Amino acid sequence: MSVADIIAEMCLKLYDSFGKKGKPEKGKEWTQLAGIVMEIDNKFTVVSLATGTKCIGVNSMCPNGTILNDSHAEVLARRAFHRFIYEEMKVVKNGGRSEILKWKGPKFDLCKNLKFHLYTSHVPCGDASIIPMKEMEELLPVSKRQKIDVYRTGAKPVCYGSKQDSKNSGVDYHVRGAVRTKPGRGNPTMSLSCSDKIARWIYVGLQGALLSHLMEEDLKLSTLVIGAGGPFNHDIIKHSLIGRSGVESDLPQILQTNLVFCDSPFKIIGGKPTPTSIIWSNVLNKSLDVSSRGRRLGTTTKSINKGVVMVAKIEFLKQFLSLCSENQEKITYREIKSCAYNYQLRCRDFKQRMGIWSQKSQFENFLL
Ligand SMILES: [Zn+2]
Repeated sequence: MSVADIIAEMCLKLYDSFGKKGKPEKGKEWTQLAGIVMEIDNKFTVVSLATGTKCIGVNSMCPNGTILNDSHAEVLARRAFHRFIYEEMKVVKNGGRSEILKWKGPKFDLCKNLKFHLYTSHVPCGDASIIPMKEMEELLPVSKRQKIDVYRTGAKPVCYGSKQDSKNSGVDYHVRGAVRTKPGRGNPTMSLSCSDKIARWIYVGLQGALLSHLMEEDLKLSTLVIGAGGPFNHDIIKHSLIGRSGVESDLPQILQTNLVFCDSPFKIIGGKPTPTSIIWSNVLNKSLDVSSRGRRLGTTTKSINKGVVMVAKIEFLKQFLSLCSENQEKITYREIKSCAYNYQLRCRDFKQRMGIWSQKSQFENFLL
């Protein structure tokens, strides 16, 4: 069995082991799946898993860190991965043992021989998904081949960017290389496409600003495994996730597995995406959350405080502050992010290379 198949199979089996809650209605709905698998000395463990295809529009965004803006599977899998890392940090701080982290003071060190692999059941939305329809090409007579189309992405180039889609028929419909925002429910979103976000994770690491305060090294991605059954083009994906930023070191391998996700849109033809997301972290307590519209499923206006999922920004602020030795309760989420100087410098460098990026800092000025 190939490494890609091992990684994918572990994620698919874990998904199968979950109950029905949050899964698509069989035969009518579909979703997308992503997970992060850790590898230590050839031993593989799933540390996070998530489903989802939705993203909330700018009108529904909230300034107190309690709602998930972006519920695409890859983005939730990374957030659930962060939750796993915070829990490991707490174990170590309380005198326990972690397979992956050691406390070196003032930060945590990663154990040796550790690798992280990201599995997605599909090509990330946005730039990496603009793939020519090869199968069509082979079926057509040579004279008609200029009419070959590309797979479309719902993500639109950021409106203040220079590159815009021509929307001409065929292969020129989309412009290549553009930083794109995800489609939302009714109104536009401020969330960038998964291709753009994954390009950033490859460039600066998976850790994000908050965890970068606590970690000596970056959480680098070793492999990206993409599910079978849908479009795949190694060179286009590599250019989108690696070539656009020009990152040169610690490049992840991009592989395709032979395994198809059972609830993928490639299997449920004519179905619609399920509005719910499953978010799972490899932690002891409350490992599974199911969300809809960025809140825990079933949240009503009366139970709004109980509707915050475990991977919301406010929860990460709580986790972060509980691990800090100094009392920093008067500091906002935004301020903590801004003062991660080295991390922010590399983010700035990355954004310059990409040419354009979205800015959501006005939604991050919240305290605990
Ligand atoms: Zn996406």
